[in-house]
Amino acid sequence: MSKFLSKRLQNLEPYTPGEQPQDQQYIKLNTNENPYPPSPWAAEAINAAAVNQLRLYSDPTCEKLLQAIATRYELQPEQVMPGNGSDENLFFALRAFCDEDTPLAYADVTYGCYKVWAGLLHIPSHVIPLEKDFSLDPKKYYSLGGETIVIANPNAPTGMALPAAEIEKIVQANAGGVVIVDEAYVDFGGESCVPLIKKYPNLLVVQTFSKSRSLAGARLGFAMGSAELIADLNRVKFSLNPYNINRLTLLAGETAMRDEDYFRRTCGIVAATRETTAQELAKRGFAVLPSKANFVFARTDKMAGGALYAALKEKGILVRHFDAPRIADWLRISIGKPEDMHKLMEALDAILENASRANAAQPTD
Ligand code: PMP
Repeated sequence: MSKFLSKRLQNLEPYTPGEQPQDQQYIKLNTNENPYPPSPWAAEAINAAAVNQLRLYSDPTCEKLLQAIATRYELQPEQVMPGNGSDENLFFALRAFCDEDTPLAYADVTYGCYKVWAGLLHIPSHVIPLEKDFSLDPKKYYSLGGETIVIANPNAPTGMALPAAEIEKIVQANAGGVVIVDEAYVDFGGESCVPLIKKYPNLLVVQTFSKSRSLAGARLGFAMGSAELIADLNRVKFSLNPYNINRLTLLAGETAMRDEDYFRRTCGIVAATRETTAQELAKRGFAVLPSKANFVFARTDKMAGGALYAALKEKGILVRHFDAPRIADWLRISIGKPEDMHKLMEALDAILENASRANAAQPTD
């Protein structure tokens, strides 16, 4: 920390992203990436001609991409705003809809960036604990008096989801504030709130190309809501970074959005692999939360979360462990290809057998 850093930022604890090793020696199940490549249409679109165009700025209005997203979600292009990853959409939304007098309400166990951004933007946080079983009680979000609310649905890192009808009641009960629904993982089995946009001018839905469309490295997300809310977000965007989406990403996003068959097929495979993974973990005595996302959240009584994470890493498998209250014994495991998950089970069997042998060898007095 230099002596020049603003006092306001000195206590800020930045978000720690999951490990991104730059070699290929790990089975990577730690940052909820898709194990399948993006649509072949995206690869075709980013061809040499597109690369030659990199000397020119990208389209600040993202017109073709907006058209593709609007068509897919039955909205008008003015109801959509792309972001440099949905992280940027969410950050812009907090910048636009929160301030010292308009706190941000969110769960205690949820996506860690909400808290970090609130800190960076000097927004007061209203943290609402999840229930003992990590479910979210919608009633705790009714009538929050104009606060901005953000709900990840499905939630991360739990994977648990609320039906859209429950979110609708929250949106209805908070007509004086904006409700942001972060649907980063919705395509793997959750119920989207996009159809509610036409009924509620205070609803903003944020999605991403990072997970279900296999474009995490392209950095592309999108917010959807009333034209007025989207105009507010554009006000922030055009005050910060008008060319926030680069040319290659615009092409990859537009083509991937149009390839509906590929999207459905790969999401279906990931969801099916999630179900078999959850069953295999349960067979081994793990508690596994009911997930609608492309990951599962699981724990075992046989080993502490941190130790199991380290043992898996030693065997070349990366999963995510959060050293945080309530979840320190849980691991978030992204869904890979079936063969990756098979290797995970083999590694778990070896590690847990070792641990139980070591336990049995302990003196008992
Ligand atoms: N929301 C949630 C709940 C997430 O888990 C993530 C990424 N890990 C994001 C948003 C942001 O994803 P991206 O910026 O890649 O779209």
